[in-house]
Amino acid sequence: MTDIQTRAIHAGRLEPRIEGAVVTPIFQSSTYEYHGEDYHDIGYLRLSTTPSHRVLAHRIADLEGTEAAVVTGSGMAAISSILVSLLSAGDHLLVQDCTYGGTSGLLKNDLSRFDLSYTLIDAQVPDSWAASLTDSTKAIYVETLTNPLLELADLEAVAAFADEHGLFAIIDNTFASPAQCQPAALGFDVVLESCTKFMNGHNDLVAGSVAGSTETVDRIKRTLDHLGGHLDAHGCFLLERGLKTLGLRVAHQAASAKRIAEFLDDHPAVAHVNYPGLSDHPQHERASRLLTTFGGMLSFELEGGLEAAERFLSAVRIPVVAASLGGAESLIVRPAAAVHGGLTPEERARSGISDGLIRFSVGLEGPDDLIADLTRALDESAA
Ligand SMILES: *Cc1c(COP(=O)(O)O)cnc(C)c1O
Repeated sequence: MTDIQTRAIHAGRLEPRIEGAVVTPIFQSSTYEYHGEDYHDIGYLRLSTTPSHRVLAHRIADLEGTEAAVVTGSGMAAISSILVSLLSAGDHLLVQDCTYGGTSGLLKNDLSRFDLSYTLIDAQVPDSWAASLTDSTKAIYVETLTNPLLELADLEAVAAFADEHGLFAIIDNTFASPAQCQPAALGFDVVLESCTKFMNGHNDLVAGSVAGSTETVDRIKRTLDHLGGHLDAHGCFLLERGLKTLGLRVAHQAASAKRIAEFLDDHPAVAHVNYPGLSDHPQHERASRLLTTFGGMLSFELEGGLEAAERFLSAVRIPVVAASLGGAESLIVRPAAAVHGGLTPEERARSGISDGLIRFSVGLEGPDDLIADLTRALDESAA
């Protein structure tokens, strides 16, 4: 099977089918008959050993192009299990300077109390990384596309640097999903997703995943088993169902986002658009080379700044003003107010997040309807 759609539907499916059921049933059983397995392999919901968990693990590993995978109860359960399992007190890691808020909060407020230290790096400047290495550096952590500016890190350089210095190369691939980028093929050791976003794609579930070699995923799963960050039975069912359309959804979202980015770029009320598919994006060439599509996420600034942005957000009718991304419903948000509200104004300015910046997760609606809605909202907010 080579097509992402065939794999998203069939990879790792149960053989034989349960009573002939075409779809993996919901296995609402917390425990399973014991057959002498080791602790981490006994049939128990928290140990992610149910048939649904096994199907998802195989399917996600297939999509990410890795030996193994494990599904988790959230993206943060994936991130916390990875960091707690691969690192120990005294260890140090290099972290991209603009990671997801939950990730930076976990490092700053929680893991620092367990003597894990880190240095923030600019993922666009590989020459600067070696200066931050210490004898205790064990990992380098980046995101495929940054939030909300959609910068694409120098992924090949990160993987090569990790290889040269014996570090775990960890990547949060949430903004891309395997439909847009497969970091394992570029040399990353651990690929995680917040499956809440593009993987499930319906704004109705919180879930996550970790993919990598069998050895690394086993190690992370053992910590996950202790932290208790498994996905419940209904969550497994919803995620498997959502994943079946991953390729179709992302292709539609990317085609719409490209049209919307071009529309906004040409509009006199719009000051600037960040989208990897536009030729003036700083990593456009790299994105054309490393990404299968330019994806469904974009951000932009209005000429009228913060006030115009507020008026625009109250004027749009189809996109919902809400955090999160990657689902059927278009979601729109002002990151300075919502997802990056935890940063100080200075930290936001340093990350290039102006108060008027708008992030747009393009959904599955018809692009003509979205463009008509945006046109009307831009006219109204310019007034
Ligand atoms: C949403 C998100 C997460 C956290 O995922 P949850 O499923 O909400 O725990 C991590 N990384 C990125 C890039 C995200 O967008």
